[in-house]
Amino acid sequence: MVKARAWLQRETASSLVEQELFDPADLSDAPATADMLQTVARQLLNKRQIIVFTGAGISTAAGISCFQGPYNANPQARMMLEAFQLNNFENDFWTFITELRQQCKGKRPTVFHRMIDGFSQRQQLKWTFTQNIDGLERLCGHLGDKVTYLHGRLDQLRCTKNAAHKTAFEAPNGVYGECPVCIELKTEPPGDSGDIVKPRRSSRIRDQVGRLRPDIVLYGEDTPEADSIGEQIRNMKLAPQADALIIAGTSMTIAAARNAVETLKAGLSEGSEVFWVNLQRVPKSIEHLIDVPLLTSTERFGNAVLDMWRQQSTAV
Ligand SMILES: [Zn+2]
Repeated sequence: MVKARAWLQRETASSLVEQELFDPADLSDAPATADMLQTVARQLLNKRQIIVFTGAGISTAAGISCFQGPYNANPQARMMLEAFQLNNFENDFWTFITELRQQCKGKRPTVFHRMIDGFSQRQQLKWTFTQNIDGLERLCGHLGDKVTYLHGRLDQLRCTKNAAHKTAFEAPNGVYGECPVCIELKTEPPGDSGDIVKPRRSSRIRDQVGRLRPDIVLYGEDTPEADSIGEQIRNMKLAPQADALIIAGTSMTIAAARNAVETLKAGLSEGSEVFWVNLQRVPKSIEHLIDVPLLTSTERFGNAVLDMWRQQSTAV
């Protein structure tokens, strides 16, 4: 009840409608029981194609805590972005980003990651979208290219001139200057007439050499990928065969994320279900999208699914 009152106070509108919505007996506010998890795990056995949409919560069990919430909300990150924009490539910005990279290095996929990987192995995974930049999905053996990193990946750097130029981020090596792909092209300029005098050519090409930056979305940056995510998802034509969407470990506070799951839900096949797996209740903004709210940790949920697979394999 204390929680209920606090919630009402927070939601300052406190209209009659909202009070009605918040019924203390509301099951969606009770932690998921073992029975509920088992039932859902059994339901998932029969799903043809599953889409998984994840956030920071699925990586906390791996010991990655620095990305709680959108990491961009970190005030230090905001400051560092300013440094980056001022072309201060050398010091604080890279110290900060390198620290983040170091925190992710050596971390292993969680039970929930293993569950997603298992769906793929069982030919049940349609796609996975993650807001995480830790790249733990890359350490799963069966995901292949069925992953979209909505906020980019911390394990690689990209070129400021050409986003297709990627370089592994092997922190710390301390040299994050010019883009090696550009430099390679500079050494062997493609098909130009050979009669350009050398000094002129080098200055022209120097203009074309980009600098390295993290391949992630930074605070305050335009995020065309995220803003147009609905369109991207429609173009991927994922949904027609998909009959389940699992939204896990994300608070869904970012508008682009809501847009993404709305698009996904709209395209699911008849009789499909949307599952919510989180320690927090479903936010009101997406309540209409959720069929099965499960208040639980993503690890507990993952374990229930893995247990069901074990039971199934021993029963055969
Ligand atoms: Zn480049």
